[in-house]
Amino acid sequence: MAKPLTDQEKRRQISIRGIVGVENVAELKKGFNRHLHFTLIKDRNVATPRDYFFALAHTVRDHLVGRWIRTQQHYYEKCPKKIRDGWQVEEADDWLRHGNPWEKARPEFMLPVHFYGKVEHTNTGTRWTDTQVVLALPYDTPVPGYMNNTVNTMRLWSARAPNDFNLRDFNIGDYIQAVLDRNLAENISRVLYPNDNFFEGKELRLKQEYFVVAATLQDVIRRFKASKFGSTDSAKTAFDAFPDQVAIQLNDTHPALAIPELMRIFVDIEKLPWSKAWEITQKTFAYTNHTVLPEALERWSVELVENLLPRHLQIIYEINQKHLDRIAALFPKDVDRLRRMSLIEEEGGKRINMAHLCIVGSHAVNGVAKIHSDIVKTQVFKDFSELEPDKFQNKTNGITPRRWLLLCNPGLAELIAEKIGEDYVKDLSQLTKLQGFLDDDVFLREIANVKQENKLKFSQFLEKEYEVKINPSSMFDVHVKRIHEYKRQLLNCLHVVTMYNRIKKDPRKLFVPRTVIIGGKAAPGYHMAKMIIKLITSVADVVNNDPVVGSKLKVIFLENYRVSLAEKVIPATDLSEQISTAGTEASGTGNMKFMLNGALTIGTMDGANVEMVEEAGEENLFIFGMRVDDVAALDKKGYEAKEYYEALPELKLAIDQIDNGFFSPKQPDLFKDLVNMLFYNDRFKVFADYEAYVKCQEKASQLYMNPKAWNTMVLKNIAAAGKFSSDRTIKEYARDIWNMEPSDLKISLSNESSNGVNKANGK
Ligand SMILES: *Cc1c(COP(=O)(O)O)cnc(C)c1O
Repeated sequence: MAKPLTDQEKRRQISIRGIVGVENVAELKKGFNRHLHFTLIKDRNVATPRDYFFALAHTVRDHLVGRWIRTQQHYYEKCPKKIRDGWQVEEADDWLRHGNPWEKARPEFMLPVHFYGKVEHTNTGTRWTDTQVVLALPYDTPVPGYMNNTVNTMRLWSARAPNDFNLRDFNIGDYIQAVLDRNLAENISRVLYPNDNFFEGKELRLKQEYFVVAATLQDVIRRFKASKFGSTDSAKTAFDAFPDQVAIQLNDTHPALAIPELMRIFVDIEKLPWSKAWEITQKTFAYTNHTVLPEALERWSVELVENLLPRHLQIIYEINQKHLDRIAALFPKDVDRLRRMSLIEEEGGKRINMAHLCIVGSHAVNGVAKIHSDIVKTQVFKDFSELEPDKFQNKTNGITPRRWLLLCNPGLAELIAEKIGEDYVKDLSQLTKLQGFLDDDVFLREIANVKQENKLKFSQFLEKEYEVKINPSSMFDVHVKRIHEYKRQLLNCLHVVTMYNRIKKDPRKLFVPRTVIIGGKAAPGYHMAKMIIKLITSVADVVNNDPVVGSKLKVIFLENYRVSLAEKVIPATDLSEQISTAGTEASGTGNMKFMLNGALTIGTMDGANVEMVEEAGEENLFIFGMRVDDVAALDKKGYEAKEYYEALPELKLAIDQIDNGFFSPKQPDLFKDLVNMLFYNDRFKVFADYEAYVKCQEKASQLYMNPKAWNTMVLKNIAAAGKFSSDRTIKEYARDIWNMEPSDLKISLSNESSNGVNKANGK
């Protein structure tokens, strides 16, 4: 007979029940015995009090596990993100934590990179001495071509401190400092600067740029010397073949130090005369410009470069002297031209204009869309194109149809193949054959069905991620790209507020339902971009929870926008937003991805939009707003945002609401700075395009109500997207800049382990 329980024992039993939530004490006992037996491998004869404690603890934990996991899931679902409370929150991305299965370290090709030190001029030449060395460890990633037997190598570099790094400190007993300094050296390859179209003149960034350049150039020279072209007996002619075998494309100015670095190798190490070294250098390099926004152009402080790379600064000065001598001879007494074209800017502390260095050191300079290349020639680098007009070219950007159609939208890729065969995958210009099916109603409906399936799939993703009910028959209106004032997410936001106000004003009036999806990352230090995100999420909160609006309008901010998310959202898009101020978007590539995936474009005459219009016809895009010339005329006249605000009642209402806290009732002043910017400091003239934009959006809504007309326009766009393949772009670079023939590699591999030896010609 069991003794009656004491009060203390009763309390203990109740509290155990409370904790474990077990009604049946027998179940608890069973669990206890199971853990004693199977987990601790004991029986009651040998079990110690600690074993009993552990058996009980395991049993209790078992009963908590289900609720433990569910609670964490709930927290995750409720507040999982980066975006927290409508603000962007950054997290470190430790993407190598689990290793990278594609890369292969190549320690046998490790190379030293030098920093700091001083320059010695002797009668045997110039020496850069007393430097600090960081090692560059190469990692190779295979880059397979699409069904062409080619696998190229992408070689990236990781910074390693040499074993003898700060050995002196170590020996005098300050080994803690020595270990800390090793970390400092290895920091060079630890971080990627997150800015978008913004130059930040930090020393670590300069170190990164030189580190990659110095390692790569040594590697290139080593491979050239090992080749039959570099192994000539005469040192004088050894490098004559260099530009025929090596082409270096400067992808923006970030690797611009490659120009003085190659000159240093040729002159100081290989002992070539300056003029010969310069001739080979110019023939080797070409430069692609990616932006005309002045705040994005690299202008490194002379002081910083002098300290980190003293020899390179001397070489840059020497390049500049010869460059200015030439201009002075061609334009006598034109001092202002010399100032404008100098590699060294004097205003507000001496700085090196890296774009000028790239132009002078290259045989070709290009922009990335026609309109951008024209602006490069006639405005930003006008003096340089006057000096050497033949240097300047255009290479319109492209996208790969393998990722941006076959992989992300297999349904559409398959439909196209059924009509025109599969060859279009390697030759996207063949998409024009689709024009033969514009009257094929079945085909049009099949294309619309694929879009609908993609929208349904994406809706399910959105509903799960954002707890919003999506109307899958609404128009998916998508604006995804980095958050930047020039890309004008604010203009889109004003349209959303205007649609909201129209629905509220007359809820019974016909409204073409929309799901507006805006997504992208702000650079962590870009305050205004973060305010734009907060405004969008605040407007979304009001719109999405207003019962009067219902399923007519939903606003989603897509956080953590990245390639894997782009692959999901782009195939599900009806309307693609490409609404930058004319003259500010160099090309854009998002615009092309949407076009290829059967979205219609609402956009300005900017970047590659201009060529999309050329290819598809202006009647097949929703084009609105100021052209480049209109923007210039408005600048001349003086842009007064207030005038538009006073003249357009719907704009006034939207701005007043944002200004007075309608979308931020807990913090009515939250958007004061943002509104102030729009009124008094808006370089991108949002208000000037508001009216045309809203009218153009109405046209898009009208067309969406007529599926046949909409789908026909979609097919016309897909059929006109062929130009925007990166295959076409690369062929143009190879032909016009690198002077290369395509190499068709014909190797037969009997099995996977065979050696494919690349006998390709060219570089
Ligand atoms: C294509 C792409 C971009 C570029 O978009 P734009 O609209 O051209 O600015 C940016 N981010 C991701 C993830 C992309 O896939």
